[in-house]
Amino acid sequence: MPNSLSLEPLLFELSDPGSASDYLPPLDVPEASLPFVVRPELDLPEVDEHSVVRHFTRLSQNTFSIDTHFYPLGSCTMKYNPKLNEAVAAMPGFAGVHPLQSEATSQGWLEVLFRAQEILAQIAGLDACSIQPLAGAQGEFCGLLMIRAYHNGRGEGEKRCRIVVPDSAHGTNPASAARCGYAVTTVKSNAEGGVDMDAMRTALKDDVAAVMITNPNTLGVFEAQIEELCALAHENGALVYMDGANMNAILGQARPGDMGVDVMHFNVHKTFSTPHGGGGPGAGPVAVRSILEPFLPVPHVKQHEGGEFGWDWDRPDAVGSLHGFRGNSGVILRALTYILRHGGNGLRQVSSDAVLSANYILARLKGVYETANPNGCKHECVLSASKLKAQYGVSAWDIAKRLPDYGFHAPTVYFPTIVKESMMIEPTETETKATLDAFCEAMLAIAEEAKTDPDLLHHAPLTMPVGRLDEANAAKCLNLCWTTPPAEAACESTGEPKREVAGAPTY
Ligand SMILES: *Cc1c(COP(=O)(O)O)cnc(C)c1O
Repeated sequence: MPNSLSLEPLLFELSDPGSASDYLPPLDVPEASLPFVVRPELDLPEVDEHSVVRHFTRLSQNTFSIDTHFYPLGSCTMKYNPKLNEAVAAMPGFAGVHPLQSEATSQGWLEVLFRAQEILAQIAGLDACSIQPLAGAQGEFCGLLMIRAYHNGRGEGEKRCRIVVPDSAHGTNPASAARCGYAVTTVKSNAEGGVDMDAMRTALKDDVAAVMITNPNTLGVFEAQIEELCALAHENGALVYMDGANMNAILGQARPGDMGVDVMHFNVHKTFSTPHGGGGPGAGPVAVRSILEPFLPVPHVKQHEGGEFGWDWDRPDAVGSLHGFRGNSGVILRALTYILRHGGNGLRQVSSDAVLSANYILARLKGVYETANPNGCKHECVLSASKLKAQYGVSAWDIAKRLPDYGFHAPTVYFPTIVKESMMIEPTETETKATLDAFCEAMLAIAEEAKTDPDLLHHAPLTMPVGRLDEANAAKCLNLCWTTPPAEAACESTGEPKREVAGAPTY
């Protein structure tokens, strides 16, 4: 099916020999030869500067971002990133500091990191915090290392070899547990989308090191039995790890420490608005109850008696270092800016509004799409296209591919895996009602199209620079070489010829 937009040509196709901008005067000194540098003659495109700038500007606009489009990617909290955060992070006193600079000359930075540790521990309702982990998944890894160190210290490290993970947890949870050498036991959810407590009771034997629970979970449901669950785990000698990536739903409303959780991570790039996606830097600080404090990774930021701040490497029970240098401190600075700007009441309002937005979307769409949230949701809702699939052959995938034609980034699809044809929608608190309404209208229009013209949806998107890509082949047989005429490359891994994709570039 044809696309209405024409494809951006390659720089090679824009090349016009002799047109390249050349500002520098001819060489008037002897040319030096660098013996170790081999400079083959490259067939580079020659394009004037203005055309290069226009080319890359057009390419940069051929994509979706939170600054251009509504981006309701469930579990990812793609909220607006306030530009104030960037202004603060760009201040020369922060941006110009070298990671190896002395403590005496980086007191401001150290104070930022120290205050972030204190405030995050306070939001968690726990005793201490480390800003070292570089991502949510690394926070999980770090938390599990601390749990293992705790059990080792009690002589139970060998015996406690299992982690219990509900099936509504994020996929990184069982992966982190396995990465730490633990066996994983999965516990089913009940009809309300919470943990099945009977199954949990059965799973909690004395070989369990910890229960790892995402709360609110990936169905957007708050685990109402969390206190009972924590008490049960503790009676059994196990600890409780909480994946706090969904803290956007409960900021200032409930504190994991009060629920009985022993260790949790934050995804500051989600909850506290630092730019992420596309592999950008994040941070996954971990907060812990005092029993785990000795095991926090090094270096830790501390305040000396005299008031000055410093790095504490002298922590004999620490689980080690998670990376070189000081972590993604720029992300922590942006998060702290966001937290201080909102204040306690502001953060509470953030989560109220995030939950309201998600429930608004759920209420408008649940008559047309089935839902995993019969009783309402927290900050995200999970819809399903199962009925459309059965009746008209239109899948969640087709819907996700059609949404960009209406000007919206797709929600997360096929996750959580426990819901068939799932679409996980997280609007966040930063969208207007008008945007939420426009998105709901688009979802309703697509459901109508499923009935009247399902084939259209199978071919979507129709107005994007590229059409429906063969994503498996594109990922497995990546071929970025440019040749004229385009290479008829065969897929190396499967030997199958590459399939033509309507509207896709053939380089
Ligand atoms: C995003 C997310 C993670 C992983 O966090 P990263 O920062 O991407 O490593 C873990 N758990 C949940 C619930 C998440 O949403």
